[in-house]
Amino acid sequence: DRLIAADSRDGEGHIDRAIRPKRLADYIGQLRVREQLEIFIGAARGRAESLDHTLVFGPPGLGKTTLANIIAEEMGVGLKSTSGPVLERAGDLAAMLTNLQPGDVLFIDEIHRLSPVIEEILYPAMEDFQLDIVIGEGPAARSIKLDLPNFTLVGATTRAGLLTSPLRDRFGIVQRLEFYNIDDLTEIVTRSARLLRVETDRAGAVEIARRSRGTPRIANRLLRRVRDYAEVRGNGQIDADTADMALNMLHVDHHGLDHMDRRLLLAMIEKFEGGPVGVDSLAAAIGEERDTIEDVIEPYLIQQGLMMRTARGRVVTRQAWQHFDLAPDQHSVD
Ligand code: ADP
Repeated sequence: DRLIAADSRDGEGHIDRAIRPKRLADYIGQLRVREQLEIFIGAARGRAESLDHTLVFGPPGLGKTTLANIIAEEMGVGLKSTSGPVLERAGDLAAMLTNLQPGDVLFIDEIHRLSPVIEEILYPAMEDFQLDIVIGEGPAARSIKLDLPNFTLVGATTRAGLLTSPLRDRFGIVQRLEFYNIDDLTEIVTRSARLLRVETDRAGAVEIARRSRGTPRIANRLLRRVRDYAEVRGNGQIDADTADMALNMLHVDHHGLDHMDRRLLLAMIEKFEGGPVGVDSLAAAIGEERDTIEDVIEPYLIQQGLMMRTARGRVVTRQAWQHFDLAPDQHSVD
C-alpha cells in the first residue's frame, strides 16, 4: 500500500471531516484561486444568482472536493456529491438532478469518467436547466422534458485535457490547483495539528511539510503517522527529529519521494538510460497503470524538476541522477 498515495480515503473519514477547511478564509494557499472565487461568489451572491458551473482540476489530494464544499458553504446552499464512474445509467443522473434544491451545488468528482450518454444529458441540464431524457424502450419509449432548479455544477478532474471539449466549454469558471509550497503546507500541518491536539513545533511542521509531495492530503496523513510515532517512541510531541525519524521509518525520503516515485525514476535511469521513454513502456517496466503514472506519480516529479515530458517521451533530469547519487556519464560507461 502506498503511504503517500494522494487518492486513498479509507479509514480517514471522520478525521478528514474534522480538519477539512469549511470556509474560503481557511483554505490555505492557492491564492489566485481563492481570490477569483471570492469575487465570483461575492458577485453571484450579490445578484442572488447561483454560481456559474465550475471546473476544478489538479492532481489528487490538492483540495478539489474541499473547494466544492466551500463553494456550497459560502453560497449558503446544499451540496450533493457523486462521481463520474458511479453515474452509470441515465436514471442515476436524472435522480440526482431532480433532487436538487434551487441553488444547490452538484459535485461530480472524476468528471472525465462520465459515459457519453450521461454527458449528453448533462449538456441541456447545465445550459438551460432542462432535463431531457428518454424513458422506456422500443415502441413504448418516450422522451420527457423537465425543468430543473438552477444549480451549480462543480466538476473535478485530475487533468483538464481529459474532458471532451463540449463539456469543458460549458463551465463558466475553470480553476487549476497547483502543488502547495512548503510555507503553505507548514501552515496546513500546523492547523491540522492544532485541531488534532498534537503538540508540534514549527521545525516539526516544516519537516512534515517538506516531505508531503506538495499535497495537503499527504501532509495530513504524514502528520497522523508521525503523531503515532511520537506517542509510542517519544513524549507525544512532534519536533524536527521525531518527524525525521518517523518519516525515515516510513521510507519517505528527504524529497518526499516514496518507493513508487523512486521506482519510476530508477526504472528510467537503469532500464532506459534516463530516457526518452514512452509512458506505456514505462508503465510496463514498473507494473503500473499508465493513468496512475500520468495523474498521480509524474506531475510532482515534473514539478520538482526530476523529470520532463518531451515530444519523444519522458526523460529524467540531471537532478534525478543526483538524487540517487548517480552521475549520467558514469552510468552510461557501466
Ligand atoms: P481532492 O478532492 O483534490 O483529491 P481533497 O479536497 O479531498 O482533495 O483534499 C484532501 C485533504 O487535504 C482535505 O481533507 C483537507 O483536509 C486538506 N486540504 C486540501 N486543500 C486544503 C487547503 N487549501 N487548506 C487546508 N487543507 C486542505
